Amino acid sequence: MDDEIRQSKLTKSAITAAMREYGAERPELKPVMRFYREIFGIQKRHADGLPLQFPKLSREEIQRRFEANKQLLKPQDLKPAPADLRDIMRDICAMIETKSPNPPEGLEPFIEGELLDDEWLTAFKDAYLAGRSRNFAREARKAGLEPDLATLIAHTSLAPFYWKQAAGVRPQLSLNQVASGACPICGARPVMGFIRAEDGLRVLECSLCGTRWGAPRMACAFCRTQDRTKLRYHFAEGDGARRVYVCDNCKGYLKVTDMSGHAGDLIIAIEDMATAYLDGVAQERGYHRACSTVFG
Ligand SMILES: [Zn+2]
Ligand SMILES: [Zn+2]
Repeated sequence: MDDEIRQSKLTKSAITAAMREYGAERPELKPVMRFYREIFGIQKRHADGLPLQFPKLSREEIQRRFEANKQLLKPQDLKPAPADLRDIMRDICAMIETKSPNPPEGLEPFIEGELLDDEWLTAFKDAYLAGRSRNFAREARKAGLEPDLATLIAHTSLAPFYWKQAAGVRPQLSLNQVASGACPICGARPVMGFIRAEDGLRVLECSLCGTRWGAPRMACAFCRTQDRTKLRYHFAEGDGARRVYVCDNCKGYLKVTDMSGHAGDLIIAIEDMATAYLDGVAQERGYHRACSTVFG
């Protein structure tokens, strides 16, 4: 089946080019963009060498789950070899220690301690992927990691396992009209969205497996209400292309950038950083970010 959604083809050099463009107007973003590029470099290097680690699904099973709005990649099915997960986590931690704009404490004892423990690694991974925040906080505490840092490490280390698997199933799916605010492949929330220049389709991008899918514009991406009286958007003066859509039904919000008149692709993680003021606009008004961010 043709996949009519152009998937992100992220490379380090594309990130470098975007950094130049964004950095010219917003120099304050440079340190966090540099940090993101470093993390991406580690993820990409590991992703290329990882074996497929989800159970193989037949074509029929893939279609069946997709049509029933069920995840194709279930978190409980991801059972990476502890050594593979440890390797990427170790590289990410070492990079955070040396290159983070604000290096956190406690990473060195973690690298020499819990990170070497297969049982802890598995519990940490399971708690994160299952979204069991209390269990995750407990595992993070055990390892001496602050919750935000633990989330950053877990999310960025696990994403490459998903990238690889998602790339294998995507070509079998028609992703241009998915009526869900959760990723049709892995069930994670999108980072944000954009309006495609050529036809006005709203495209969302998954925070975990990186899949892009088209979602109806006239409905809330999260609770799917189509009640126009509940749906509004805000934007900053002078920048009408960058919007935050809020929903009074579920109180969630989603940032969306209108790409009309822009050639080229958008690097969602960087656009997310550059539109942090819109998170403020929505949160001040009592809406919550219904999607994930790790660099925000
Ligand atoms: Zn996904
Ligand atoms: Zn809603």
